[in-house]
Amino acid sequence: MSARDKAVWVDIGGTKIAVATVSASGGIVREATIPTDAARGFAAAVPRIVDTVKRLLDESGWSAHELQGIGIGCTGPVDRVRGTILNPHTLPGWQGGDVVSPLRDAFGRPVLLENDADMALRGECHAGAGRGFDPVVMLTFGTGIGGAALVHGQVLRGVAGEHPDMGHVSVDPRGRRCYCGTSGCFESLASGSALAAAAAAHGLGDARQLLARAREHEPAAEGILRDALSAVASATWTIVHALLPERLILGGGMMDEHYETFAAAAASAVARAAMAPPGRITVARAALGNRAGVLGAASAALNLRTEE
Ligand SMILES: [Zn+2]
Repeated sequence: MSARDKAVWVDIGGTKIAVATVSASGGIVREATIPTDAARGFAAAVPRIVDTVKRLLDESGWSAHELQGIGIGCTGPVDRVRGTILNPHTLPGWQGGDVVSPLRDAFGRPVLLENDADMALRGECHAGAGRGFDPVVMLTFGTGIGGAALVHGQVLRGVAGEHPDMGHVSVDPRGRRCYCGTSGCFESLASGSALAAAAAAHGLGDARQLLARAREHEPAAEGILRDALSAVASATWTIVHALLPERLILGGGMMDEHYETFAAAAASAVARAAMAPPGRITVARAALGNRAGVLGAASAALNLRTEE
């Protein structure tokens, strides 16, 4: 491997932070996971991240100057220009935390911060279910619902470079109140935490048990799932008409077991989308799983020079 075809990936989630050294091909050389410990504050997390990157570089036998760059994916909104975290919900108290400068100072290489859904999208478009398609929309179902889009080969960004938050497409104005300030958001009806809350309210266990019960045609569980799938279909309708993707990718932890069910709801909306070019929009399962973020960050880090 020649110099500068190596990258470091950092993924900051609400409960854990994953770090990996990655080769140009997307191969993971070394990886480690540390708890986020969000409640201990941002300042306490920074040296732990820097130390973990140092340790993995040592274990990989790499020196920092061999790195093309470091790619960071972070849950929620981020300020890519300032390199700061803006997520008040999953990382309370971390708003405004600059995660880019400490890593740039410690390793002397370019550092790119990106929303984690955008990183996963980059990975899928680089080497997974989005490869060869453009435009691409990827929806990620986990604790929340994330969304990202690739248009003309670029990650779609809003004003100030912000990440469009597709989980907050409202599908029911009289629906459940969402933490974002409105009601009936896609995320507040169909995410893992939404299903968990509905299951608990009806004495149906957790989200996993709810989905299992729905599969066994237990009426209360089926009703909750039907509402969630109806939200998936409505949100898909809106997103597809707004962006007209060639490919819609469904990913995230919930799709490991329930892709077929959710894909059927999304595909039914696509099939009814009379204002979209008939037969041109395909729905596919994310191909890379957790590795999408790694590959996305690696491809972003390896392309830093062409991006800037
Ligand atoms: Zn919302």
